[in-house]
Amino acid sequence: MKIRAVRTKLYKWTGPVTTGDTIFATPVSLLPFQRDSQAAYRFFSWLVVEVETDEGHIGIGNAGLCPDVTKAIVDSKLAPLLIGENPLNTEYLYEKMYRSSVAFGRKGAVLAAISALDIALWDIKGIALGQPVFMLLGGRTKEQIETYYSRLYTRQLDRLQEEAAHYKNEGFTGMKLRCGYPLTEGRAGMKKNVEMVKVVRETVGDDVDIMLEAYMGFNFAYARALLKELEPYNLRWVEELLLPDEIHLFSKLKQYTDIPLSGGEHEYTRFGFHDLAVAGALDIFQFDTNRVGGFTEAQKICTLAQVNGIEVIPHGGQMHNLHVVMSSFASPMAEYFPQTGIEVGNEMFWYIFDGEAVAQNGKLQLDDQRPGVGLTLKPNPEHFTIIE
Ligand code: MG
Repeated sequence: MKIRAVRTKLYKWTGPVTTGDTIFATPVSLLPFQRDSQAAYRFFSWLVVEVETDEGHIGIGNAGLCPDVTKAIVDSKLAPLLIGENPLNTEYLYEKMYRSSVAFGRKGAVLAAISALDIALWDIKGIALGQPVFMLLGGRTKEQIETYYSRLYTRQLDRLQEEAAHYKNEGFTGMKLRCGYPLTEGRAGMKKNVEMVKVVRETVGDDVDIMLEAYMGFNFAYARALLKELEPYNLRWVEELLLPDEIHLFSKLKQYTDIPLSGGEHEYTRFGFHDLAVAGALDIFQFDTNRVGGFTEAQKICTLAQVNGIEVIPHGGQMHNLHVVMSSFASPMAEYFPQTGIEVGNEMFWYIFDGEAVAQNGKLQLDDQRPGVGLTLKPNPEHFTIIE
């Protein structure tokens, strides 16, 4: 079997966007002079790659982050490396793409591009062998997948309460809210961030996991003080308090708190996660399979996590992460972005693909009979311009 063609499709959302009261701290929100510190972190386009073989199999992969740049990397640098190769040699092809791009790659958009292609290659492997990808990775390690609800974006306390109660009633036993107030609002803003957590805890009671997302918005001093204020609320974790490169500061933070720290949504490859593990920086790894290096790299990081007593709870819902969660004992649950309106961009995959798993009572199931990743492209998706 040989790879005959690699195609890229940039899906640009042209439909309505609901931003409303969805405000959260970001890496730029601690800088002065910011009028819209969320703008750089809402994305309304998505990249789909298709890899086609001479036997007519088509594998699909996808990438978020900065899809227009990722498209150019696939088209000009990576696709030529794959043409004529056997798509089943996933280990070799990952290494070929990684080593060929190391001078300008290693992280970010280049790794997102490699990830999308790796996912497409595993999709082909599953389709050709008649098995879902999770069966090729190690099979079932759980009956079904526990999820946590990832949509508490609002900072209005009454709406926050209403939403949290609603998700609990839908059967979710975990939910994540965002720090609505940036570092520049100082002590008063910190109080309001803590108040949001308090309100959700009081609403859902002690039997629901609550997670708090900081999205790289703070510095060490703020993070340390915030963790202290959060101690009474029994959080499952606090996510990405600092920039991904501040590994040494995550390790230092852990000396001051018993609250589990999570991160890795913006870290890449087995090398990045090895550094985090060695530093003892995090309790939970949250790579996204479509950024970290695809299934080929995700599988290795799961093993690394398991050896080091670190949980893997990938960023984003989506099938590529669910196959990893299903097949690894390192991973107790998955994130769940529900299918509602377009708010920050994470939700867009629901509008591009058919076959994404839908939660029932807070849990997801994967089909043993559906080969590959299990996704197809919606034939005529509404509200998109597609650039090939
Ligand atoms: Mg996150």
